[in-house]
Amino acid sequence: MITEVSDTPFRSTDKISGKTGTENAEDITVLDCKGKTLLPGLIDLHTHITVLNQVGFDCLHSDMTLLTTAAEHASHYLDMGFTTIRDCGSMHRVANEVKHMVQIGLIDAPDLITCGKAIMPTEGNERHIMAQHVHFADTADEVRKAARKEIAEGADFVKIFASGAAAISTGVPEQSIMFPDEIETAVKTAERKGRYVAAHCHADNAVRNSILAGVKTIEHATLISDETLELASERKAYLIPTLAVMYVSDGPRKEYWESRLGPMLRHCTEKMTKAYEMGMYLGFGTDCAAGDFCYENGIEFRFRREKCGMKALDILLQCTRNNAVIAGIDNRVGSIRKGLAADLILVNGKPDQDISCMYHRPDLVIKRGKIVRSN
Ligand SMILES: [Zn+2]
Repeated sequence: MITEVSDTPFRSTDKISGKTGTENAEDITVLDCKGKTLLPGLIDLHTHITVLNQVGFDCLHSDMTLLTTAAEHASHYLDMGFTTIRDCGSMHRVANEVKHMVQIGLIDAPDLITCGKAIMPTEGNERHIMAQHVHFADTADEVRKAARKEIAEGADFVKIFASGAAAISTGVPEQSIMFPDEIETAVKTAERKGRYVAAHCHADNAVRNSILAGVKTIEHATLISDETLELASERKAYLIPTLAVMYVSDGPRKEYWESRLGPMLRHCTEKMTKAYEMGMYLGFGTDCAAGDFCYENGIEFRFRREKCGMKALDILLQCTRNNAVIAGIDNRVGSIRKGLAADLILVNGKPDQDISCMYHRPDLVIKRGKIVRSN
């Protein structure tokens, strides 16, 4: 199905009015927020409503199950206060459909920014779960065709795999898997249609090639070198670190994942510390699933604070204002300002002084002026 790319329509009650006092008092709900802090609704610029947390694996045989499961899963991002999420590749492009369901008010879920399927060089066979989430494209012409197809199907941006994937056992994160002309073609095709490219990059060379080709958002940037950090800063490419996805929880393959992801996490936190100290404008992503351990325990917030030494206020800005600016939606969300969407969360504590109150669910989540979660 082809969906229109359009912003969620606004009614006047969806917005922050800027009025104080109690005019039309009968329409107003007054909340006692003593000791609590009101923040803009949070934004996660890197997640997937399928593939993570088994969503997708359970739905291989039914499109209807896939749609309802994906919609339900998307709604859970509200639990932790995320009122906007960017889906970086979904099974059968189902995120495009869920986005439409949110836009027409069919379900309470975050606003979605979607890319449909991601574009990846042939890295597996057709039966691999990833094959349902990607286009395999192996020349610049194939990349151009795939990008056009995704945009025609309703993509807001184009997602490419410039390096191998860590979460696929056959993927080699240290390898830069797309050729520069393929990345450039993705960028030019996207730009012609008013879109931009987000590139999955672990390998340093993949980051470098992507920045030089004009990619707007560098996802993960895990194995970035000091030289490439300088280049990113010079060219004003946006880095979207996703540290939480490298957290290894207890499980049957803990040792395997620790040996695979541990060194990547150490390298990445060292470089993101440096990027932060350089004053780079960092985004906020998780690559984690709503409801999983990392999401429910605010691991992305923790790692940025504890491993990268970022100040609490800066982390809050990363997952609100910075992400809105990066995604080009700061005229609608990301701040508390008159005329912006009334997407708000209420947290217990002072998160700008102690970020730990972001490690669990907020007290209240408001989307377009309506309370959608109350804990
Ligand atoms: Zn991802």
